[in-house]
Amino acid sequence: MKICTTRKSLQGYLEQLKQDGKTIGFVPTLGALHQGHLSLIALAQQNTDVVACSIFVNPTQFNDPKDLEKYPRPIASDIEKLEHANCDVLFNPDVSEMYAGNEQWHLEIGELEHLLEGKFRPGHYQGVTQVVYKLFDIVKPDIAFFGQKDYQQFLIIQKMVGLLHLPVKLMMCPILRDADGLAMSSRNIHLSAEERQHALILSKALNWLKQNFDRNQIPSLKNECEAMISAEPGVELEYFEITDGDNLHTADSHTKKIVALVAAKVGKTRLIDNVIISWQLSVGS
Ligand code: AMP
Repeated sequence: MKICTTRKSLQGYLEQLKQDGKTIGFVPTLGALHQGHLSLIALAQQNTDVVACSIFVNPTQFNDPKDLEKYPRPIASDIEKLEHANCDVLFNPDVSEMYAGNEQWHLEIGELEHLLEGKFRPGHYQGVTQVVYKLFDIVKPDIAFFGQKDYQQFLIIQKMVGLLHLPVKLMMCPILRDADGLAMSSRNIHLSAEERQHALILSKALNWLKQNFDRNQIPSLKNECEAMISAEPGVELEYFEITDGDNLHTADSHTKKIVALVAAKVGKTRLIDNVIISWQLSVGS
């Protein structure tokens, strides 16, 4: 696997491949790679000729400096995992390579920026769009692969691509879970064995909702899920919402594309998860 730490070396490497007619798949990550990340690499390999992965802990998307500081950075084992997965190229820049100084960035994303995650992590999506825009500009991928795990992030990047007419296709990839149902996340390593058990309530509630969706009205189902999670010791619920999967507004009985999303703190670790309840195309779309 080729490893590049500068934009110039990455662009030089990819340029030749593009001239040879190869399509480029791109998987941006913050590192501390797990099987979920590797499943994105595998999907990229199935859909494009050359797969580039980036590992960059982007400071501008962290609204909590402590979270940034303690974000895991096991680069040697990440490189091993990528080698093993036959990833073609890794881009692993320093902060100074990505940001010249105190740059200004603002993208008018609209209300999506301020709902759910946006409410609890102010400024997060400005940082995400800032770094993803820069990464797209460097890599110029044909297809970029993002996880459903960060569902709102996918909608926001889709919005940015539309607003700025960026020449890239986006692919949403399914959530990988551990055998007990917990959604894989780089943050899971911070959970104690006991916290990990409590954390299972998130996927249990989402699963229960999916199984029981036709049995009750949406507001009652939401209340039941909230009660289930709030009753779990050591778990502090931030939100549980049953939404229209296009705009994250609260779903009603007419909503076709329904996605339920949850965020909670388990001890000091903040976790998110979601489930697609129904995915019918809306009338007229
Ligand atoms: P992160 O390093 O957390 O920014 O994640 C990088 C990419 O991997 C994002 O597109 C995530 O949505 C995706 N991802 C994270 N966790 C999972 C998972 N459990 N299954 C599938 N994709 C994931």
